Amino acid sequence: MDLPRGSALAPSRHGEYNVTLMTQGCYVHIPFCAHKCAYCDFNSYGGHGAGSIERYVDAIVCEIARADCDGAIVDTVFFGGGTPTAIPAESEARILHAVRKALPVAADAEITTEANPGSSDVAGLAVLRAAGFNRISFGVQSFDDDLLRGVDRIHSAQEARDAVRAARHAGFENVSIDLMYGLPRQTLPQWVETVEQAIDLGVDHLSMYSLIVEQGTGFGVLAAKGRLPLPGDDLTADMFEFARVRAAEAGYGQYEISNYTLPGRECRQNVHYWRNEPYHGFGAGAVSYQDGVRRTRLLTPSRYSVAALAGADLTAEAEVPTVEQQMAETMMLGLRMTREGVDLARFRQRFNVDPRDKWPVEIARLTSQGLIEVEGDVLRLTYRGVFLGGEAMIAFI
Ligand code: SF4
Repeated sequence: MDLPRGSALAPSRHGEYNVTLMTQGCYVHIPFCAHKCAYCDFNSYGGHGAGSIERYVDAIVCEIARADCDGAIVDTVFFGGGTPTAIPAESEARILHAVRKALPVAADAEITTEANPGSSDVAGLAVLRAAGFNRISFGVQSFDDDLLRGVDRIHSAQEARDAVRAARHAGFENVSIDLMYGLPRQTLPQWVETVEQAIDLGVDHLSMYSLIVEQGTGFGVLAAKGRLPLPGDDLTADMFEFARVRAAEAGYGQYEISNYTLPGRECRQNVHYWRNEPYHGFGAGAVSYQDGVRRTRLLTPSRYSVAALAGADLTAEAEVPTVEQQMAETMMLGLRMTREGVDLARFRQRFNVDPRDKWPVEIARLTSQGLIEVEGDVLRLTYRGVFLGGEAMIAFI
C-alpha cells in the first residue's frame, strides 16, 4: 500500500476512512486590488484605503493565531487574492510570521505570493524574499499593451518584464507567470508573441488560462449585450494548442490542464488541491478543508475584519461533503493533473473502492471515446481528453 509521503490511515470523525495527511497546504487571502479588472469574479475589491488594509491585516493575524493546529506539517503556504502585493510587503511578512507561529511550517516549505507587476517594486520584493517567500506568481496575462488595457490591467508589458527581473534580483529562484488567451480582439500572432516573451524571460512556471466570461463581471455585462468581441472557439483552440506545443518545445511539461513547468517546479500548493487533500484557509472568503469540513469565511473584508478582531465565528458557510461527493471531487480534481492523474491505489486506500468498480459504465464510455486512459494504477486524461477536459470530469458528478 503506497501512502503519500508522511501520511497515515485513520478513520475520520465522519465515519469513512480517510487519508490523514501529515503534510498539508495553507492559503491566505488578501482581497485588495488597485481596481477591479473587467473579467474578474474573484473575491477582490478595488480602492481600499490604508486604514482598512491595516485593520484587515490585524484581523487576519488574529484569525491565524486562533488556528486549529492538528499537528500536520504545513509544506506549502500560498498568499493569493486579490493582489497580495497591494498591501505593504511588511504586512505580508507579518502575516507569514503569524502563520509560522501558529502552524508547523516545514523548513523547506514552498511559500508563494501572487503579485501584480504594477504593484511590485524592488524594495518590496526584497522584503518578501527576506521574510521567507521563495516563490512568486505574477499576474501578467499578456505582453501586449493594448490587450492589457482592454482587460483593465494596471501594468504595462514592460513593467511585467521588469517585475520578473526584479524578482530574480531579489533572490526568487522560483518565478511563475499567469497568461490569458481568448481575450477580446486577441489574435493568434499576439498570443504567439506573448508566449514567446514569457519563454524568453526564463520563468520556471507558466499558467495559461482561457478567458471565462462570468456573469456579474464587466465582461459579463458586455457579453449579455452582445458587445464583447471574443475570438471564436476555433481560434481559442488554436491558442491552446500553440501554448501546449511551444511550451513543450521550450522544456515546460504540462502537468495540469492550464499549467506548465520546468522540471521540479510544479506548484505544490495546487497539487494539494488537485489531490483533494486538507488545507488551512485564512482571510475574507477563504475556504479551508479540515477534518472533512469545507468552511468558507465571511466574504467582505469589512465584515470579516470586525468578526475576526472580536474573536467571533467567521463561518459564512460550512459543508461536510458526503463520501459520494468526496469520491466524485477526487476524480474531477485528479483528472486535472495531466501527468499524475487519479492515483487509483490512493483512491482505493481512501475510499475502500476502486473507481473502475464505482463507475464501470462511465469509465468504459470515456475510455472508448478516447478521453481517458488507465496505465497501471493511474487514470488520466488522454490528449483528446485534455482538450475536452470538462466532458470527462463531469461524468463523475
Ligand atoms: S488583479 Fe486579479 S484579483 Fe484583482 S481584480 Fe484583477 S484579476 Fe481580479
